[in-house]
Amino acid sequence: MVGNMTASPAEKLSPVKAERLTAVKGMNDILPPDSARWEWLEGKVRHLMQRHAYRNIRTPILEHTQLFVRGIGEVTDIVEKEMYSFEDRADKHGDHDHLTMRPENTASVVRAVTEHNLLYDGGKRLYYMGPMFRRERPQRGRYRQFHQIGAEALGFAGSEVDAELILLAAALWTELGLTDWRLEINSLGQPDERARHRAQLVAHFEQHADSLDEEARRRLHSNPLRILDTKNPAMEAVIESAPRLIDFLGTDSLAHFDSLTAILDANGIPWTLNHRLVRGLDYYNLTVFEFVTDRLGAQGTICAGGRYDYLIEQMGGKAAPAVGWALGVERVLELIREQGDSISFPTLNAYAVIPQRSALPMVTKALQALRAAGVSVQMHAGASAEDLGSMKSQFRKADNSGAEFALIFGATELAQGCVAVKSLRGEKAGGRQVQTLQPLSDVAAWAHTLRGPVLPDAA
Ligand code: ATP
Ligand code: MG
Repeated sequence: MVGNMTASPAEKLSPVKAERLTAVKGMNDILPPDSARWEWLEGKVRHLMQRHAYRNIRTPILEHTQLFVRGIGEVTDIVEKEMYSFEDRADKHGDHDHLTMRPENTASVVRAVTEHNLLYDGGKRLYYMGPMFRRERPQRGRYRQFHQIGAEALGFAGSEVDAELILLAAALWTELGLTDWRLEINSLGQPDERARHRAQLVAHFEQHADSLDEEARRRLHSNPLRILDTKNPAMEAVIESAPRLIDFLGTDSLAHFDSLTAILDANGIPWTLNHRLVRGLDYYNLTVFEFVTDRLGAQGTICAGGRYDYLIEQMGGKAAPAVGWALGVERVLELIREQGDSISFPTLNAYAVIPQRSALPMVTKALQALRAAGVSVQMHAGASAEDLGSMKSQFRKADNSGAEFALIFGATELAQGCVAVKSLRGEKAGGRQVQTLQPLSDVAAWAHTLRGPVLPDAA
């Protein structure tokens, strides 16, 4: 189409009409106004973590595939079928890296902590937020790119830190106004206790081999504990009658469990013992827990975690105990929505109405001064380069913007070194909205009169 006088600029660039592109299946755009809920949640989390002395860690999204194979365990849903892995381009020696987009963040945190020797002077409390990637079947509450917020305490062996993390999560639900959750706990004991349980569990499943589905039969000898985690209702009876881990725990493991639940009880956190709770990842011991809700259908787990005292050593670090959890941001936000949220999001304080383009240099200067003083201001901008639009259409936009005030930079006001401030929401005086004149020479002196609800990050 080159040479065609009527072609649009885009058509001049490409000879065929561009096909419309879409996002990858199971991966969502987070758009305004919904993105404000994400910022609100993240703001709450940041402040809460700070108050609990957890500090932020940010690790890369891409890691060596081996990190997750070793960290999560070969015989898990994630490693068997959910990872986005690829071979990187060859370097100059012809060597390829096998890389994976992180499906979870604990393995990465452990790698980073080990690589940078973060535990050299004692335990560390860390938190993260960010996207994770799993190639699952997309459905409500289950996506291929989803987001987790996680907290990890590394280098502490006592159950008081398990309790601290659970209390932290419970405090977050309170901050977010969530009431519809319950806490389920189990103890996976220590490896030797688990080995004894495992032998009996395998014997039990072998006796009832005809009740097992194909996946369970495949896992019977590689990872029988994971069979307890099945979502297949047909296996209900065989699972219910299986030997229970708690019956295989020794004195120390039981003491760990009891001292944890004593702290939870003292803090008024209700919990139930769920014998079938084993978690999808292989690396846990002692405490495992999930916060569950009935309001999100099948995807009811909003937060899950546990102790992983052997993972750091297994990943090549110096042996150190650890415990942590991760919550699913999409599910938490969905639950907030389910409960009928009453979140008050920050509104726009002011909308600048600009009759003449010639005023723009002065207007922009005044707006920057207002913004520096903490006011949120939207500048009117026209769709065409020549015309800013009529006063009528600018006022309509000011109204629709949700702003509390219109700032009118008319020629008369500017000639007096002023801007007219008109209330768009408040009481009308004699049928007209209240309007005042304010000096541009001293914006800071009256900026506070425009400031409304505090922005999330300043909270
Ligand atoms: P599930 O049994 O629901 O698959 P999981 O055991 O695989 O969960 P974890 O690896 O423990 O989940 O992740 C912690 C939390 O992250 C989950 O409780 C959930 O809230 C969230 N989560 C996990 N996978 C997804 C996903 N594909 N989409 C959205 N959220 C997810
Ligand atoms: Mg899963």
